[in-house]
Amino acid sequence: MKTQPKKYYYNLQLREIDKIKGLENKPSLLMHTCCGMCACYPIVYLTQYFDLTLYYYNDNIYPEEEYEKRYSELKRYVDIFNQENGQNVKLIKCPYHNKEYTQKLAPFKDEPEGGERCHLCYDLRLSEGMRYARENGYDYFTTVMTVSRQKDSLILNQIGEKLDNSETRYFFSDFKKDGGLEKGLELVKKYDIYRQNYCGCVYSYREMLERVKKDYEKNKEAD
Ligand code: SF4
Repeated sequence: MKTQPKKYYYNLQLREIDKIKGLENKPSLLMHTCCGMCACYPIVYLTQYFDLTLYYYNDNIYPEEEYEKRYSELKRYVDIFNQENGQNVKLIKCPYHNKEYTQKLAPFKDEPEGGERCHLCYDLRLSEGMRYARENGYDYFTTVMTVSRQKDSLILNQIGEKLDNSETRYFFSDFKKDGGLEKGLELVKKYDIYRQNYCGCVYSYREMLERVKKDYEKNKEAD
């Protein structure tokens, strides 16, 4: 695949929006969504142009209570958003299969966050989302994850480019741009949306526990 700069994908986002603005009816878009914190601003942005459905497919998240917590916070925000704005954003929750998913990530367990393990994790979730979107006749598919500073939007869009097809187009994005990151943080504050302190998989969970332990020991020494 030809390597494209980050800006190229953001320009594709703007160009696609210009095209959609000229349509009589809003096209349907399925968005892979990982949590309320990441989704709050992209929902506001995308509902201006699309008939939006969220796809909660996140077998990476460990443990199951965390998977349920992120889902219920997402649902709480979607319900508020729909009620306050007269919208009809739909939300699909997938069954939880963390064990099988973790086995797929296991060969890359020692990779640092942002490395090969994460690239595979993006690919697995986007591929499944695109499969569902295509089989169910959505016009577009995308992921919310480009809003996060911790995720590599270039890699995400490159995966999207690979998945793009004539039935369901991939909607390229960089939701951080044009103040998206700041607008998201304002919404998180306003609606008191849960902010997790690790990415999701068991490996990032263990790293978080280590971080917490180190901080605790450092603070104890300082006392
Ligand atoms: S750190 Fe996050 S993106 Fe990376 S493998 Fe774990 S859950 Fe997936």
